[in-house]
Amino acid sequence: MTMPPVPALQTLEDPQEFVARHIGIGADDEAHMLSVVGAASRAALIAEIVPPGVARRKPMQLPPAVGEAQALAELQQLAARNQQLKSFIGQGYYGTHTPGVILRNVLENPGWYTAYTPYQAEISQGRLEALINFQTLVCDMTALPIANASLLDEATAAAEAMALALRVGESASRSLVIDPGVHPQTIEVIRTRARPMGIEVVLPASAVAWQQALEGDYFAALAQYPATDGSLRDLSGDAQQVHAREAAFIVATDLLALTLLKPPGECGADIVVGSSQRLGMPMGAGGPHAAFIACRDEFKRALPGRIVGVSRDALGQPAYRLALQTREQHIRREKATSNICTAQVLPAVIASMYAVYHGPRGLERIALRVARYAAILAQGLQQLGQHVAGNDSFDTLLLHTGKATAALAARAVCMGVNLRRFSEEALAIALDETTTRADIERLWQIFALPGQEQPDFAALAAGSALRIPDHLRRSSAFLTHPVFNSHHAETAMLRYIRALSDKDLALDRSMIPLGSCTMKLNATSEMIPVTWPAFAQIHPFAPPEQLAGYQLLDAQLRAWLCEATGYAGISLQPNAGSQGEYAGLLAIQAYHAACGQAQRDICLIPSSAHGTNPASAQMAGLEVVVTACDAQGNVDLEDLARKCQQYSERLSCVMITYPSTHGVFESRVQELCALVHRHGGRVYVDGANMNALVGIAAPGEFGGDVSHLNLHKTFCIPHGGGGPGVGPVCVVEDLVPFLPGHTSTGLFSGVGAVSAAPLGNAAVLPISWMYMRMMGAEGLRRASETAILSANYISCRLQPYYPTLYANPAAPGRRARVGHECILDLRGFKASCGVSAEDVAKRLIDYGLHAPTLSFPVANTLMVEPTESEPLAEIERFIEAMISIREEIRQIEAGAVSRNDNLLKNAPHTAAALLAEDWPHGYAREQAAFPQPGQRPSKYWPPVARIDNVYGDRYLHCSCIPMT
Ligand SMILES: *Cc1c(COP(=O)(O)O)cnc(C)c1O
Repeated sequence: MTMPPVPALQTLEDPQEFVARHIGIGADDEAHMLSVVGAASRAALIAEIVPPGVARRKPMQLPPAVGEAQALAELQQLAARNQQLKSFIGQGYYGTHTPGVILRNVLENPGWYTAYTPYQAEISQGRLEALINFQTLVCDMTALPIANASLLDEATAAAEAMALALRVGESASRSLVIDPGVHPQTIEVIRTRARPMGIEVVLPASAVAWQQALEGDYFAALAQYPATDGSLRDLSGDAQQVHAREAAFIVATDLLALTLLKPPGECGADIVVGSSQRLGMPMGAGGPHAAFIACRDEFKRALPGRIVGVSRDALGQPAYRLALQTREQHIRREKATSNICTAQVLPAVIASMYAVYHGPRGLERIALRVARYAAILAQGLQQLGQHVAGNDSFDTLLLHTGKATAALAARAVCMGVNLRRFSEEALAIALDETTTRADIERLWQIFALPGQEQPDFAALAAGSALRIPDHLRRSSAFLTHPVFNSHHAETAMLRYIRALSDKDLALDRSMIPLGSCTMKLNATSEMIPVTWPAFAQIHPFAPPEQLAGYQLLDAQLRAWLCEATGYAGISLQPNAGSQGEYAGLLAIQAYHAACGQAQRDICLIPSSAHGTNPASAQMAGLEVVVTACDAQGNVDLEDLARKCQQYSERLSCVMITYPSTHGVFESRVQELCALVHRHGGRVYVDGANMNALVGIAAPGEFGGDVSHLNLHKTFCIPHGGGGPGVGPVCVVEDLVPFLPGHTSTGLFSGVGAVSAAPLGNAAVLPISWMYMRMMGAEGLRRASETAILSANYISCRLQPYYPTLYANPAAPGRRARVGHECILDLRGFKASCGVSAEDVAKRLIDYGLHAPTLSFPVANTLMVEPTESEPLAEIERFIEAMISIREEIRQIEAGAVSRNDNLLKNAPHTAAALLAEDWPHGYAREQAAFPQPGQRPSKYWPPVARIDNVYGDRYLHCSCIPMT
């Protein structure tokens, strides 16, 4: 018997091994797909689709791909450059113990992190329940009636509160007064956001000056409770003064402290914001963490972000869905007050689970322990002769350390501890859930002079002092709902988490072919580093040298993304695509101003744009002028040229998406850029569709001046059910000085800070780093090409059943082509049989599939984006389902089935409906439940039937359903 020859070693060491794992299409599948779409090769297909001028780009200079094990080893070396000291810095970021059951089963569980934003409510009941728990938590703690489901961070939440107050307020003033006790990073972001809105920020330097300022004229005042220096005071008097001026009182607060403190809502606050980070989410060098915003009932229709509400389904059962959905602010486009789209859903789920697990008594116990430690620490420090400021605080002490400040801070670092350098003459120490007796004794040691006797911990602990005065103690109950009082045993908690995730359809069960949203593989190897302590346990305001690993990660990733986009400079600070847009537009405006062209204030946006584009433009102080699209869905260049001419002097920029939101590579994009440049304007290219471009074309080379990327779309950060995201802003050379930054870090700060933390959602950056490291230039290009091939395959296969809208007009004898997504036109069915695209989306649930993007950018269509990661078998499952649904529609068209009672109108079908004694429908239960062969063993059962949106908006209820 002869054995086959042993292959050469190189062929056994395949550095491209990950590429083949990431891309779901193998060589045989690819050959088959190419034959179906009628292209000789991938390269030939791309050449047909991407205009030659656009496709001409410099090759990406990236390090050659490595396998998963090596990439992880390299990243571990980077992580090891971070120094993990015990941080007592506070300032909005605290140590916390993520309960193991939540860490493993939520934060590290693809059932949660690969889910999409819950627009399809019937397949999202689990995360919607978790989010309504979050809203209930926020309402209960703050004592306000309405809370949203998360914002990006505390600083941007405060800026959103400012915009909300301005909009709902009665005052004619455009001044905002900020208490000196507000966190500095919050003030920094508010300054950035206030400028283009023409808001004057008044910053009194002392408590006395604050009181005086409250006598003045302003539309809102912002205070922090407890203050950034840890001090506590009753805000009721301030609230009365603010209300006497007809202004809104905004309070930034801390959810853990509110278990012990009189809540802001009881002190007269109108809007309350803050971060839920310390409820179980690691510091992660600044993010991702869920911020919250709560307000008075009258403001609810102007609240930014998403609100989860209770409604009922077709069977009359209670069900959750996003409330006031058309009011999700960015959908209002240029009339929006906020551009928030992707938020921080996964961190909000973590915070809600933390509250469910600990319950009101557990949270109070944690808070009391922190407050007791703080009181003991203060007494000991006083015994050591230190000057502890004030008498009232929750967890943070301010020490007047005078000339010894720098030396004490340095001594602390030598002892493995970070204190906050509050000023040249003061240090602050913030305690948290992780503080132990040993920490308190170590802190005393730092301040003890040689020979000085250590305070006696046991003796001090024998007392019962708190630094919280009785009149500020909370007396109202909170978290009384059973959900916060039932799952305190780990077994119960594990099953609660599992029960919720079982209700949801995420990428771990089905493809999620959402056009524009790019739901691709989030590889496990990419996710693993996120919770490494060397990334997770780092305070964003630790001394910069302790963040050396993060800085290197940031620098490498920026360099690689510059290669991918063709831009000269990038900032990773924006926490979402919307924030990248905003930062990019600010950069353009700052550039014009620096050129003496401050009058340039018109932003041209094609009608097909994503809603965040006009919303960001108006926030950046620009006037939006909408331009037309032609019958093929392309930007109407003639209309654009007319408007450029008309507004030439005032033209700031044009915002386009490329390939367009219609999924088309417009052939005249370079002409468009040249036209705008001739009029002195800049071109903003929305990079949400980069998954069609990476390695193929570079916006920074074909004429773009600014783009944002969505690392949570193209670069593998999972969607998390609607966040976290990272929205890097990328610019050409002359705009680099105008990228955002924090003054506190000494980095450039052209337009100021756009996020609370200098590196934004730093803790998820390793995901994109891993992706690029393992794919290399060739792998990334292959991914884009495969994504385009798969979309064209679906478009071709479904052509006889659902024509693709806006496929590029075919050259004679050539097939119509799309980019990386295709819009299936379902508009005809309304007339032919009363079926809408929404009916098809709901029917797909019965097939165990997540619907494509519904009615964006064209009403009554489905936009399909398979991505490169989906295996052909899954693509076929989707195609077969769509073909089968087409046949179901035909039955209605033919009059064989009723227009009002059919498989589509009644979808999705729940087990309860299918098992009911009574089956009044003109089709079989079998057909409803198992429309596709092979579904029986692993059928996804929707927990609720079609949800009634109108009912829920009429009877708005946005907290946990009362138990009866
Ligand atoms: C997703 C998306 C955005 C907004 O990004 P977020 O991260 O959700 O803020 C902007 N434009 C387009 C075309 C998008 O698809």
